[in-house]
Amino acid sequence: MKSVSGKVYLVGAGPGAADLITLRAAQLLARADIVFYDALVNADTVALATRAEKVAVGKRCGRHSTAQRFINKRLIDAAAKFGTVVRLKGGDPMLFGRAQEEIDALRAAGIEFEVVPGVTAALAASAALGIALTRRGTCRSVLLATPRAGKGERANDWARGVCAADSAVLYMAAGQASDIASALLARGMPAHTPVLIVENASLPTLRTDAMTLHEMQHLPPSEFKGPAVIMLGEAFRSALIAARDDLSLITAAG
Ligand code: SAH
Repeated sequence: MKSVSGKVYLVGAGPGAADLITLRAAQLLARADIVFYDALVNADTVALATRAEKVAVGKRCGRHSTAQRFINKRLIDAAAKFGTVVRLKGGDPMLFGRAQEEIDALRAAGIEFEVVPGVTAALAASAALGIALTRRGTCRSVLLATPRAGKGERANDWARGVCAADSAVLYMAAGQASDIASALLARGMPAHTPVLIVENASLPTLRTDAMTLHEMQHLPPSEFKGPAVIMLGEAFRSALIAARDDLSLITAAG
């Protein structure tokens, strides 16, 4: 059997914009022998791996997905063959990116690995809005959560955390915004809570929508096609008021 020699890097590609990546990640991509990348990773970012074999292992909701166990096996096989293996994941690898499954598999196989952080979607959305997720005196806690439970996974009480946090950012949630609003209202979150939905943060196709939690309950499921986060909390009230003012200007102008 061939001896294991390569190292696997779990690298954060950032939220989308190709230049929102760490210098360490860019340097690793430049010297990578093989790169396994997710569907959400920008093609320009993948292109930074000039000399690598590039393998798409995308998981995009509703589309074909490469089973996680198969990805784990491919990483292990690649480490036996190549010196520098990069597993490129959208945003930060350690948030909602199944990094732990891959790390556990690499550890079990005795393969050396390293994690390179990236800019997660919540921070890119906060930057795009110009709204801080914390605010001295009023917002001291931030929750990053997803209501999504995979097939066969037990649902958890994500709504409890959202209600308890000053600012909350929900991943993999915009497609079921109405159900999420219902769950939060049932949990006692006030109907007038400000909500911002931010799609394609960091990209030229950025789109934002502001509403109250009550209004989110009536949002059609098809409203957001690109990756989007739902942000909730008082920190977003000024944006909601500004959006309402814009709207009234448009209406006033006819
Ligand atoms: N590891 C990633 C998250 C992967 S889960 C990270 O740290 O960002 C995929 C979810 O991330 C999407 O469903 C969406 O909720 C969010 N997302 C990813 N890129 C985004 C972007 N550019 N703008 C808004 N949301 C994004």
